[in-house]
Amino acid sequence: MFLRVEIHYGGGIAINQQVLTGINGIAGEWGHNPLPWPQTEELPGQPCYCGKQGCIETFLSGPGMARDYQTNTGQTLSPPDIVALAETGDDTAKACLSRYTDRLARGLSSIINVLDPNVIVLGGGMSNIAQLYSQVPHLWEQYVFSDRVNTVLKPAKYGDSSGVRGAAWLWPI
Ligand SMILES: [Zn+2]
Repeated sequence: MFLRVEIHYGGGIAINQQVLTGINGIAGEWGHNPLPWPQTEELPGQPCYCGKQGCIETFLSGPGMARDYQTNTGQTLSPPDIVALAETGDDTAKACLSRYTDRLARGLSSIINVLDPNVIVLGGGMSNIAQLYSQVPHLWEQYVFSDRVNTVLKPAKYGDSSGVRGAAWLWPI
């Protein structure tokens, strides 16, 4: 069976265009799992509004990327500005983006290990970062339980979304 998994960072998941709800109404709350394979400096992680600490969302949301940049540079920049700065070759912005892509690769690897989908489609504001699609599929190879990962990562396009939670830019940037 061809499996297309659409994930909206801010919550919500659709399998083959069908939005899942779940018996507990929490399907797609992937962002409230802990970040997989955490590094020492990622522990215990920031408090999350859900009451836990170090949730995936606290790293991969727009505010999470901005916080990471501020922690490492002392400067406040929005994610689009961080990405734009990285594209100019700025080392601190590039390092922030590479931490982000590695964290996303780890987070998505746990989904691949469970579902082994053909395609993962990302929605939400942070899914607009073009570099994710060239870098994350290389990075997740070291985390996924397989020597070969054929899963394709792509952004949700306008009209291509299953309407998970309105397909809005759920993680404001
Ligand atoms: Zn949480």
